[in-house]
Amino acid sequence: MKESFFRTILGDKPISEMGLTYAHEHIIIDDCYVTAGHPEFLLNDSKKITDELQNFYTAGGRTVIDTMPVNAGRNPILSAEVSQKSDVNIVVPTGIHLEIYYPKNHWRYNLTEDQLTDLFIADIEEGIDKHDYSSPIIERTNHKAGLIKLATGNEKFTKHQEKIFRAVVNTHLATGAPILTHTNFGNQALEQALLFEKLGAKLEHVVLSHVDRNKDLNYQKSVLDTGVKIEYDSAFRWKKDDKNWTFFFLEELLEKYPNQITLGMDMAKSAYWKSYEGGPGLTYLIDTIPKFLKSKGLSAYYQKIFFDNPKELFSFF
Ligand SMILES: [Zn+2]
Repeated sequence: MKESFFRTILGDKPISEMGLTYAHEHIIIDDCYVTAGHPEFLLNDSKKITDELQNFYTAGGRTVIDTMPVNAGRNPILSAEVSQKSDVNIVVPTGIHLEIYYPKNHWRYNLTEDQLTDLFIADIEEGIDKHDYSSPIIERTNHKAGLIKLATGNEKFTKHQEKIFRAVVNTHLATGAPILTHTNFGNQALEQALLFEKLGAKLEHVVLSHVDRNKDLNYQKSVLDTGVKIEYDSAFRWKKDDKNWTFFFLEELLEKYPNQITLGMDMAKSAYWKSYEGGPGLTYLIDTIPKFLKSKGLSAYYQKIFFDNPKELFSFF
């Protein structure tokens, strides 16, 4: 049998080459509507990004899952360049982000479910448009998308969001590409999982992000009980006078749900990057998680969180 693969910006690789993986990152956010409103999100300095990725590689990191979907700052040429220079595998998504990151009259609202599906499939099977769908002329690169993203907010899903869900699951089933979502502070995570299940998605290839922002342990369990994977990325974000909820959930949940938890940094602001003179920097998890796990007698789960779970999740099926 052919070994499973994951789809990086530089081509398909066997999952044995995935190595230590961060499951929710922002490596490139180029000039776009998002950065016009949020200049602090701009991440397009090739040298600085390469430096940070090289440090990640030196610390043992091998793969990062980038999470900016269509028309929200992708630059496949730049992603390929920093991957080549740093030797870090980068997986770049297709799919669509939160409504706030697009103008009110954006084409996302007018395209049909089938048209969106076709667009996402083309990103995965043909190559990402050089202009990231910001121009009427589409010029596909040979850099393909390796996952599909969607995002919901705090409220019950809208009809528009349900259309996106269907297009994302259609793409997932047609291509075998994995799915990653944004949840707002963990809200609607259970509803996301249940809708994916209803639409027939393969839940072992679906990951819901930022779920550790919801402080309810029972809620975490009910999401995990659906079989979906989750991603935590707030370990470094909790204020000093609060509990580190991310660490608390790891301690409470790893033994019962060893195959479903992944970690990331979600460093969407340049202020989090060491190479942009900020912190804590991309190596933070590699530097802190092994010590934390050891202190709790949970070292055996290091392999699960950073290697085995991302492999199962981000491989094509
Ligand atoms: Zn993010």
